[in-house]
Amino acid sequence: MNSPVEAPTPGHNFLRAQIERDLQQWSRGQGPERRFGGSPGDAAHHAAGALDPAKIRTRFPPEPNGYLHIGHAKSICLNFGLARDYGGAAHLRFDDTNPEKEEQEYVDAIKEMVAWLGWSWEHAGQTHLYQASDYFDFMYRAAEGLIEAGLAYVDEQSADDMRKNRGDFTTPGTDSPFRTRTPAENLARFREMRDGQHADGSMVLRAKIEMASPNINLRDPALYRIKHAEHHATGNKWCIYPMYTYAHPIEDALERITHSICTLEFEDQRPFYDWLLGHLAQLGLLAQPLPHQYEFGRLNLSYVVTSKRKLRQLVDEGHVKGWDDPRMPTLVGMRRRGYTPESIRAMVDGSGTTKTNSWLEYSVLEGCLRADLEARAPRAMAVLDPLKLELVNYAEVFGSTDFRDPCSAPAHPHHPELGERRFSFGPELWIEREDFAEVPPKGYHRLFPGNKVRLKAGHVIECVGCTKNEAGEVLAVQAKVVPDTKSGTPGADAIKVKGVITWVAAHEAVAAEIRLFDRLFSDPQPDAGGKDFLACLNPESLRVTQGFVEPALLDAAPASHWQFERHGYFVADRVDHSAGRAVFNRTATLKDSWGAK
Ligand code: ATP
Ligand code: MG
Repeated sequence: MNSPVEAPTPGHNFLRAQIERDLQQWSRGQGPERRFGGSPGDAAHHAAGALDPAKIRTRFPPEPNGYLHIGHAKSICLNFGLARDYGGAAHLRFDDTNPEKEEQEYVDAIKEMVAWLGWSWEHAGQTHLYQASDYFDFMYRAAEGLIEAGLAYVDEQSADDMRKNRGDFTTPGTDSPFRTRTPAENLARFREMRDGQHADGSMVLRAKIEMASPNINLRDPALYRIKHAEHHATGNKWCIYPMYTYAHPIEDALERITHSICTLEFEDQRPFYDWLLGHLAQLGLLAQPLPHQYEFGRLNLSYVVTSKRKLRQLVDEGHVKGWDDPRMPTLVGMRRRGYTPESIRAMVDGSGTTKTNSWLEYSVLEGCLRADLEARAPRAMAVLDPLKLELVNYAEVFGSTDFRDPCSAPAHPHHPELGERRFSFGPELWIEREDFAEVPPKGYHRLFPGNKVRLKAGHVIECVGCTKNEAGEVLAVQAKVVPDTKSGTPGADAIKVKGVITWVAAHEAVAAEIRLFDRLFSDPQPDAGGKDFLACLNPESLRVTQGFVEPALLDAAPASHWQFERHGYFVADRVDHSAGRAVFNRTATLKDSWGAK
C-alpha cells in the first residue's frame, strides 16, 4: 500500500534496531559461530575459514540490465551505510543469472555510480565484488542435492497446465502428474535438461513443497528453466538457468550475508527463502548461520518514475536524450544535472526506512542539494535572456570608451578564503531582459526611464531610454553611469537605490549555452495505479537559452558547480562543456519551485 505524499520521518530506520539485537545476541555467543572462508563458498569452504572479520554482511544486488536510478540509491546507501555503521562489509553483487538482458556496459556503469555515491566494496583488505553467474556450478549441485533428497522434481506439464494447476488466492493448487517421480528419474531428466536434450519451455525443475499452501510462492516454485541462450559471462556453458527466487537466497548464503535487505514486494518470498536455505544447510551444502531477509518500503519520489523498464522506454522512444539526460532520475542523469553524491546521501538518510512504501516530495531532494551547494558553490554572474545596455556617458566619465574599469566580488560571500573574482566594466553590458520595463508595473524597482539601479558589484546607473524595432520590441536600453558610485569605493553609497541588477560586460562576456530544466512529468505520481506515465510528459521540460557568463567561467572545469546569482545552481555540463564551448545545466533554482506550482 502506498501512503500519500508526506514528509519523511527523519532518519528512522527499523533495520538498525534489528542489527543491534543480532549483534548483542552474537556477542553473547548465541547461535553458531560466524566463519568466513575469505571468499564466497559452500559449507566446507567457510568451516575452514577464520571468524568473520566483518560484524555484519550486507549486499547490493543489481541486475545489470539498465542504469541505476534514485530508488537504487536508497538501497545502496542503506546496505553500504549499515555495513559502515556497524563494522561490517557490503558486497556489490551483479545478479546476472538471466542470460538475455545483461551487458557489460551496465556492469561498468553500476560500479561507477556506487563509487560515485561514495561507497567502497573493500573491507578488511578484501574486495567484495561478485557476480552471481560464478555460482552456477554450486546452484546446479544444490539442485541435484534437492532432487536426491526428494525435495525437487522435473515437471513436464505445459506452461498452461502449470498455471491452471497452481490455483489462486481462493483455490488450492493441484499436484502435477509428474510430482511422484522417483529421485533417480528426476535426476536423469534434470541431467538431460542440462545436457541440452530438451527444448526451451518443455520442462522445468520445481521444488516439492505444498500445492495447497496458502502462500502461492510455496506451491512448488520453479527452480530451473531451459534457455538455450548465450550468457555474457558464461557463454554457452549452460542451457539451463536458475530462477531468481532460487538463485538469490543461495547467492546470499554463499557470500555469508547476514542481513539480506530487499524491497517489500519480496515479503511473500521470505518463506521460500528460508525453506530453501534451511534444506541446503541440512544437506550440508551451506554454512550456518544462514542469512535472513528483511523487507523495507521502496522509495518513490514525486514527479519521477523509478522503473528500469519505463526509463528504458523514455530513452528508446526518444522522449529524453539518453540514460544520462539531466531530466532523468537515473544516477548518471542526476550527476549530469549537477546533483552531488552528498545531497543524495543526505536525502536517503533523512527519508528513513520503514515497512511501508512511501512517496517523498521531490522538493526534499532539492532542499538537500541546496543545503550542500549553498555552502560551497562559488558565485558568478550570468545573463540568461540578454538585452544590450548602452552607457551613453561612458567616455565622459572615464575619458574613453576603451577604458575598462576593474571590478571584483567575493567568490563566496561566507568564504573569504575562496578569494575574489575579477571582471571589468565597459561601455556596453548585457543585462536580463526582465530587468527593463518601458512602463514599469507597480512596485518595479529595476530599470525604467528615469530610475536608478545599482549594477551588482559595480556602479549606479540611471536609465534614459531604449531603442525599439518596427515591431516595438526593445533592442537596447540606454543609461548613464553615475560617477563615483562603484561598489566598495568611498562614498559609493551616497546615492540610494531600491534595485540591484546582475550584468556582464559585453567586451568580456563569455557566450554560453544554458540548459534550463523543468520537471519531466506534470503529474506528481506519473505511474501510480497503472496510469500511462507518457500521457503526463511535460513538453516544456527542457529550454535552451543562449546567454552570457562572466569571464572567470571561461576556465570552468566540466562538472564544476556554480551559483549564478539570482538564477540558481548550475553545473558545467560534463559532456558538452569544454575550453572552446561553455555549456551549463541548471541543477536547481534558488528557491523551491516544486511545491508551489
Ligand atoms: P526496477 O524495478 O527499476 O527494474 P529492480 O528492483 O528490478 O528495479 P534491481 O537491479 O533488481 O532492479 O535492483 C537492485 C536492488 O535495488 C534491489 O534490491 C531492489 O529492491 C532495489 N531497489 C530498486 N528500486 C528501488 C526503490 N525504488 N527503492 C528502494 N530500493 C529499490
Ligand atoms: Mg529486478
